[in-house]
Amino acid sequence: MKLTDGFKKGQQIIGVGHTLEFILSVIRFLTTCKLTIESAQCIATYGGGGKYQVNNIHGGMYVVDLERHMCTCRKWDLCRIPCSHSMVAIAKTEKSTYDFVHSLYKRAAYDRAYESYISPMPSQEYWRKIGHRPIKPSLYHKQPGRLRTSR
Ligand SMILES: [Zn+2]
Repeated sequence: MKLTDGFKKGQQIIGVGHTLEFILSVIRFLTTCKLTIESAQCIATYGGGGKYQVNNIHGGMYVVDLERHMCTCRKWDLCRIPCSHSMVAIAKTEKSTYDFVHSLYKRAAYDRAYESYISPMPSQEYWRKIGHRPIKPSLYHKQPGRLRTSR
């Protein structure tokens, strides 16, 4: 079975309207599983001011700032999803990791992005003819030098 077949079958089972919720929950589950395994190898110690020192059992120390949503590994800074180090620190506070995920990843942001009207579009045979010349692709020029065999 191809992935698209599985996706279509999933749509039939859960309904098209609930597909997004299902995909988001699968992504949330897989992300949480991976990070949970990684965070099991870390120990967090409160340092004061909302900052934690997180030690990995394989070596490496990280500073997690829960108030500024930052970690020295910079994964949280870049992705805006808590990294494994910050998950350990968040677990110390007994808050939900979901509360520390950036609002852009949440359902409300998706709804805001697609709340405006998207005009339906007919197939190409019904497009209005405007009489201009069609745009052609640029000419291909063979570059000098030996051809690359690998990237
Ligand atoms: Zn980190």
